[in-house]
Amino acid sequence: MAKKKVLITGAAGFLGSHLADRFLKDGFKVVGMDNLITGNLKNLDHLFGNEDFHFMHHDVSKFVHVPGELHYILHFASPASPIDYLKIPIQTLKVGSLGTHNLLGLAKAKKARMLIASTSEVYGDPEVHPQHEEYWGHVNPIGPRGVYDEAKRFQEAMTMAYHRFHGVETRIVRIFNTYGPRMRLNDGRALPAFIGQALRGEDITVFGDGSQTRSFCYVDDLIDGIFKLLFSDYALPVNIGNPDEISILDFAKEIVALTKSSQKIIFKDLPKDDPKQRRPDISKAQELLNWSPKIHRKEGLEKTYAYFKTLSKEELNTTAHYNFEKYITR
Ligand code: UDP
Repeated sequence: MAKKKVLITGAAGFLGSHLADRFLKDGFKVVGMDNLITGNLKNLDHLFGNEDFHFMHHDVSKFVHVPGELHYILHFASPASPIDYLKIPIQTLKVGSLGTHNLLGLAKAKKARMLIASTSEVYGDPEVHPQHEEYWGHVNPIGPRGVYDEAKRFQEAMTMAYHRFHGVETRIVRIFNTYGPRMRLNDGRALPAFIGQALRGEDITVFGDGSQTRSFCYVDDLIDGIFKLLFSDYALPVNIGNPDEISILDFAKEIVALTKSSQKIIFKDLPKDDPKQRRPDISKAQELLNWSPKIHRKEGLEKTYAYFKTLSKEELNTTAHYNFEKYITR
């Protein structure tokens, strides 16, 4: 039987590159698309030369053309850290809105099934805990995270409209904090920030008093959940994440212990609109997809640390987050 073809946007990013690996491993042809603003081709190096993999350097905010047949589209292109939203706010809005519209049009034309990467950020700074899919959220549209949160909320609305009005087969995953190899070292997220600081011998920066909580999911578990959701028949949003909740201060202590660093933990101002608590209610994923995370944080952190240790001194010390000059158009 001919292999099915999948388009993965954001393929040179953290999640996109893991998805590309998983689909190739499971016998699909993969077209990886990325504009390389925050993505890094190093994440795909091992796939060039694989005859089932093809890379397209393209910005999905502009009309998307993929020749030939296409069976599945996974839209994972987006900046995804609070530092990114401040530096490239308009690109963040465009990829979630215009990019999603273009890809839904492509899905409709190709009769492909499309899965979009939504986020726990649609719940904002939540007043309901843990967060279940029926909660509508508590989002500040004009705050620093608004460009991401509202683009993702618009993305969900647009996806449901194409599903209901045009009958496009769609899936929506709401991704909670995820970590693992190939995370960008200097994107400002807690885990790469803490590990990078430990490796460079700098103090570990906890924002606020560190009492805010997050629930971290190892990337392999997340990819497995997404895979199961894509092949399910459920079109409404599904949370995928690990409900094992921890305060950021305790998380920082775990990283200090893991890296055996003698650095001290220092406290900095809490960024505006930083959610106070976050934990997914994953009953839907458990019931509908028979999915739950399997990898405990201890094991996941060890694998992630092993990856960060392979980075060169130059990569560890780089503070440039973007390929600004090369790729950004305004
Ligand atoms: N954080 C921190 N120190 C850092 C980076 C992040 O204490 O150097 C905090 C951040 O304020 C937030 C939590 O860690 O409360 C998780 O941040 P991340 O950016 O990883 O994810 P998000 O806030 O989007 O869940």
